[in-house]
Amino acid sequence: MKSSFRPSLVNGPFQDCALYVALRWQGDALLFDLGRIDRLNPANCLRLSHVCVSHTHMDHFMGFDQLLRLTLPRDRELTFSGPPGLIDNIAGKLAGYSWNLTESYLFRLVVIERHENHLARASFRASNGFVREPLPDLPAAPGQLIDTPVFRIETATLNHRIPCLAFAVSEPRHLNIRTDVLKARGWGPGPWLARLKAAVRTGNDAEQLLVPTTGEPLRIDAGTLRRDLVDDQPGQRIAYVVDTLFDRENAERVVALARSADVFYCEARFLDVDRAEAEKRHHLTARQAGFLARAAGVRRLEVFHFSPRYQGMAQAFHTEARTEYTGETRLEDEVPWAADLVDERLAAPLVADVATESTGGSRP
Ligand SMILES: [Zn+2]
Ligand SMILES: [Zn+2]
Repeated sequence: MKSSFRPSLVNGPFQDCALYVALRWQGDALLFDLGRIDRLNPANCLRLSHVCVSHTHMDHFMGFDQLLRLTLPRDRELTFSGPPGLIDNIAGKLAGYSWNLTESYLFRLVVIERHENHLARASFRASNGFVREPLPDLPAAPGQLIDTPVFRIETATLNHRIPCLAFAVSEPRHLNIRTDVLKARGWGPGPWLARLKAAVRTGNDAEQLLVPTTGEPLRIDAGTLRRDLVDDQPGQRIAYVVDTLFDRENAERVVALARSADVFYCEARFLDVDRAEAEKRHHLTARQAGFLARAAGVRRLEVFHFSPRYQGMAQAFHTEARTEYTGETRLEDEVPWAADLVDERLAAPLVADVATESTGGSRP
């Protein structure tokens, strides 16, 4: 099954954070954080529809100006989502320039802040000089951020001495009709198959569908058709976690958000030998990232955001993360509360595939 998502880090592991996720079928793309993004080619920038900002430290947000510069002349709406304060941060960025010649421009921004129980929103249009226009708040269930028919973005608020959002993007499950069964029974294609998929998605097994055959159409319930005809596979899930303190509360939130992710992008600012400093700076070590990946039962872990002080030592991060991820070292033997997070049924990695190559220079 081909997934809709094609994720890739824009920069090398020692550089700024930016994860580009191309949506294969739609031609759109998502970006998680926008530190320096000059390595992202302009055509790919122009495909962006949503940008999620974990927090507004410079190494996660300074690419805003570059993205704005590229998209400004376009008839495009860009949605930015992030922690409380993002609307002010973006208003402040926009206030740093003069906008007297943009009346005819169609470009606009929508900014969404994730608060505890609601989403605060504002829009900014180039045509009126990016004046802040408040939009009504929306109620939001725990973790809810963006819902579209094609993808869903959930979030968790982590403690980085300021709120820092982690994200997980997932696609709806894949429902495929088994054409071999259709053929064998002599059933024709048609709009009834779309109705069947809709019934499966909403769990409406009792719905009666008219199935075209070579003779009289048959009336069959969706539940029976689902069992015989539909191949149901979960969609892909990608989790993204940066800049967070390793404490019980953060770890629980990360594990819940990243649970069974296909790919887990996790910061590892420090090596575990410098654990005390990581704690002081509210960052993770490679070993802690490996532990979170194991506890969450992710299929693949990709560590990044290494401190430049370790330049040339990327392999040490990968080795440390992998050793903990595969359970050769067990952080819970040293940190008692960590044992509560490990679900032994998930503990064995499905694929022992911590990335070992630098992703530097990979261009989406
Ligand atoms: Zn930070
Ligand atoms: Zn950072």
